Amino acid sequence: MVTVSCPRCHRIVESQAITCPHCRVTLKAYGHPGIPLHRATKDGYLCDSCTYHADDTCNFPQRPYAKECTLYENLEERKLELQQQRQKSSFGAIVKSWIQRHQALILLLGLLLVCLLLALSKS
Ligand code: SF4
Ligand SMILES: [Zn+2]
Repeated sequence: MVTVSCPRCHRIVESQAITCPHCRVTLKAYGHPGIPLHRATKDGYLCDSCTYHADDTCNFPQRPYAKECTLYENLEERKLELQQQRQKSSFGAIVKSWIQRHQALILLLGLLLVCLLLALSKS
């Protein structure tokens, strides 16, 4: 069972819980476990750290003073995710280009390995 901390009472609750069983705060929007309801902490507004506020694509009426939002996406987490994706794809591209540049060597090593296995199987 996956658990999370309740944003109000900070007690452990099941991640799919629609309301906190301890303080009864609403955790999911529209009573649906698949729609998380994000909440601002104390004085701040969610929009201040939201991707859709930063790129000016949000047209929700509560912007820029949203205290609760179903679409909130943390800007820093998104940046980190994109950075990790870029690093992964650049590592894949390096490996791919190395293989392309050294195809002859890889083929030769493969042949040598086959010869070695044949020689070992006959002895
Ligand atoms: S999606 Fe929600 S949190 Fe993000 S900018 Fe719009 S209203 Fe604010
Ligand atoms: Zn709670």
